Amino acid sequence: MTIKTHAALLASPGLGHLTPTVELGKRLTTHHGFHVTIFVVTTTTNSSETTKSPILQQTSNLNGLDIIFTPPVDVSDKLDPKNPSLGLRITLTMLESIPFIRSQILSMKFPPSVLIVDLFGFMALPMARDLNMSTYVFFATNAWFSAVTMYLPFITKEAFSRHANNHEPLLIPGCEPVRFEDTLETFVSPWGPIHDGYVNAARDILSVDGILMNTWKDLEPETTQAVIDNDILGQFAKGPVYPVGPLVRTVEPVEKKEGESENFIFSWLDRQPAESVIYLSFGSGGTMSEVQMIELAHGLELSQQRFVWVVRHPVQGDASAAFFDATKGGDGSMVEDYLPEGFVSRTKDVGIVVPLWAPQAEILKHPATGGFVTHCGWNSVLESILNSVPMVAWPLYAEQKMNATMLSEELGVAVRATVAEGGVVFREHIAELIRRVMVDEEGIAMRVKVKEYKVSGEKALSGFGSSYESLCQMAKECELDYVNHSDEVKARGA
Ligand code: UDP
Repeated sequence: MTIKTHAALLASPGLGHLTPTVELGKRLTTHHGFHVTIFVVTTTTNSSETTKSPILQQTSNLNGLDIIFTPPVDVSDKLDPKNPSLGLRITLTMLESIPFIRSQILSMKFPPSVLIVDLFGFMALPMARDLNMSTYVFFATNAWFSAVTMYLPFITKEAFSRHANNHEPLLIPGCEPVRFEDTLETFVSPWGPIHDGYVNAARDILSVDGILMNTWKDLEPETTQAVIDNDILGQFAKGPVYPVGPLVRTVEPVEKKEGESENFIFSWLDRQPAESVIYLSFGSGGTMSEVQMIELAHGLELSQQRFVWVVRHPVQGDASAAFFDATKGGDGSMVEDYLPEGFVSRTKDVGIVVPLWAPQAEILKHPATGGFVTHCGWNSVLESILNSVPMVAWPLYAEQKMNATMLSEELGVAVRATVAEGGVVFREHIAELIRRVMVDEEGIAMRVKVKEYKVSGEKALSGFGSSYESLCQMAKECELDYVNHSDEVKARGA
């Protein structure tokens, strides 16, 4: 296939942002003949973890896809130490990395004509326009949350006040309203600079040449259509909206190879009956209080189900504490120091506790895995759906509460954890949720539904599927722009 277009993709810090960006890059290269350069933005605390991540190792043999790491950035001195907003930290890190990205692009012999950024990369858009590149935003999430972001500039201050003060739902044309219980942190007090920054970012996003979303039409038929067709957006948004998902990391079943040492998780899973193990993980950054971890451990025991549980050291009052550093708060302590006394030895025949990090995509693919207690990060949700695994939805931060509502109330593939007064999910409730997914009739129905969505997701990505076609259209637009861009680059060089 001849190379048509060179696209630069920007991945903001965090594996949840990197994985879908890399998957998009891989598809543009393998299915649409693009040359792709991915700029991976790193921080001083996540740079070594990021460079070693398996998703990047998978790209090393791929022709036409280059990875460039930006120099690690530390923005901690620019943040309020008492309230270090995750969104602001990512945004500032991106901003500091732009001069390096620009200099790299300018030094390329065959410079990219397209820039694709994720939600946090919007500050790079002026640079791209300055270099006469066409601009795309990739929402690595569902259509509902993408719609909320796109509509921000059209939501009045009064509507935000009624939402924050009177807990009225936030109305988004053509979409499910956002209930106050599910709202984003920034909408709880929508008066400060962080909220204003988000609205301004949304304005910038609407001015791009196209918007991509990591979802597919059959998963969210009304919402995707509402975003594609809506008159209000149509008047302001410059480019079309393309649902191109589900883009998730593809993995092969784990098999022990000659000479390799056994992986204890998979050798244990291999010995368990089909769909009998519940997997528990709260994403790349999720943490819990000590009280909550103790309740969860007791709940697991009460459920009497086999399990694989990824645990992190407890952190009080910051659910995303480990986002930039998976070892946060760990100070060398062992899991026995913060789990209930005797838990690990009592459960050693029925479960595995994995400190910090586990190969999630591979675990979800394993035939023994039959349920997933998840914080509802969108990558985790898609990985679960594409492996036909029903979920216990336990959202922690960002848009995860909206995702939990969608999974449990619209799609019927999850049951949702209820947080009791005092902010804790109690052990009896945890045991009940796990049994509803793993044992009860309700779980069987959820399994049927999730299998249907798996099939529809795979169909969307296959030749002539809706997401495949969307990406073809986007690729065609890029090709047309490429012709103009090459003339401009030639003129610049002359
Ligand atoms: N992940 C993993 N092992 C872990 C925790 C997370 O491989 O122990 C991966 C997971 O498979 C997913 C990503 O990290 O691809 C997390 O992304 P998600 O959107 O679910 O959540 P985030 O971390 O962004 O909150």
